[in-house]
Amino acid sequence: MSLRLRLTLWYSTLLALLLALIAILALALVRASVLADVNNDIQRKGDQIASLLEMGAASAPIASLLGPAVDASFAPETYVLVRNLDRRVAYRSTNLANRLIPLPNPQFDQALQGRNGFYSLSFQRPNDLRVYFRPVHFGGDIIGIVQIGRTLTTEQAILRRLTINLFWICAAALALAAGVGYWLAGVALRPIQQATATALEITRTGRLDRRVPVSRARQDEIGALISTFNEMLARLQELFERQRRFSGDISHELRTPLTAILGNTTLLKRGAALPPAERADMLDEIEAEAQHMRRLITDLLLLAQADAGLAIQHERVELNVLLQDVYRQAQRRAGDRNLSIVHEEPAPNLPVVVLGDADRLRQALVNLVENAIRYTPPTGRIDLSLRIIGGQAEIAVSDSGQGIAPEDLPHIFDRFYRADKARTRADGGAGLGLSIVQWVVEAHWGEIAVESRLGEGSTFRIRLPLAERAPAAGPVAPPA
Ligand code: ADP
Repeated sequence: MSLRLRLTLWYSTLLALLLALIAILALALVRASVLADVNNDIQRKGDQIASLLEMGAASAPIASLLGPAVDASFAPETYVLVRNLDRRVAYRSTNLANRLIPLPNPQFDQALQGRNGFYSLSFQRPNDLRVYFRPVHFGGDIIGIVQIGRTLTTEQAILRRLTINLFWICAAALALAAGVGYWLAGVALRPIQQATATALEITRTGRLDRRVPVSRARQDEIGALISTFNEMLARLQELFERQRRFSGDISHELRTPLTAILGNTTLLKRGAALPPAERADMLDEIEAEAQHMRRLITDLLLLAQADAGLAIQHERVELNVLLQDVYRQAQRRAGDRNLSIVHEEPAPNLPVVVLGDADRLRQALVNLVENAIRYTPPTGRIDLSLRIIGGQAEIAVSDSGQGIAPEDLPHIFDRFYRADKARTRADGGAGLGLSIVQWVVEAHWGEIAVESRLGEGSTFRIRLPLAERAPAAGPVAPPA
């Protein structure tokens, strides 16, 4: 059953119950008020008759006392009956003919005890008779009982008509409300239908640039749902495009070295007469390209594992020892560049311990130092430093190299991003180094920041929580 129909049914059932309750209450109130009017009327008349009898009982027969007044003003729907104490009829109005107004025992006993009251009778079905009874006093004694009854024909007919009218009014109101409710539910649910249609269209056509139309003014739940849906689509589109770009970049990065390798091998196969020096150059180039491919594939594999939630070891790692190692290795590659290391705080030989994966941290530092060497001219300087600041270990790698243009800075951590594509390609960089650094740092609950000025140099700072402050181990999502 559709939500629209279900909503309408719920709403209509509730309304039907409410209307029935109101109708029953209204009928009960009208009935009570009509009965109260009848009661007042017959009580007033009954009391009049009783006082007529009490005043004239001694002087004249009952029939002559009551006859003219009763027959003239009470007929046809009001009946009068006067009984003796032995329950026999002493007088009855002419409209009763030879019928009686029954007097049940409880009411008879009440009257004998001097009390008055009302009761209803089934009289000339289907019409009811409302009866008032009261004792007649004379000289301190009860001498008889007056019964005065009125048929409820008119009132009951009015009530019946009212019931029928109320039924039709309620039925019409219910039908109208259900119709309007069904239409309103349709209007309210239309955006959801549109969202479903859009989602279906996206599934069929694969067009992630489609959005569900929603007015900005719409602040309700449906507006929020559609905005969230659209945001999700935008995010999916972005991820999808990034994935596509990524695949394109990988193909491109692999094709270039492969082309070089294939070109060289073709030449080598053909050129039996090549001078040995040239053959050696070609073999060197093949080796360099193959190494570049291996590095690229290793990096890609690591990032793929990171994407899949690769768990990181959480052992105690002494950063000062690690940095010293990286420094020693880098010295060989640094050439003439002035490479220095400073261990500032708290004391040069005190260990600075973090919880983490020594291999990954080493890889991150090597990537930073390699970049510094790659982008700094042979006459420049490179400084490595370690200090404790604000309860965290901070490693800085700064160089006096070419620096990074402000427009490139926001992108250098993106996969395959290279500020100067031609140059770094020649140097062997594929633009994955900093993505790996960022992932490693974040997997260690750390932060990385960079300051750079074009032509003056760059400083990369990594901050990692110290061992006693590191949070409990858990998987960390890699940077995109
Ligand atoms: P690559 O393999 O190209 O070095 P990275 O991800 O390590 O890739 O770096 C991305 C880009 O950031 C580099 O291509 C380079 O343009 C820039 N970059 C990184 N480190 C430095 C640095 N120390 N000095 C200048 N530019 C740098």
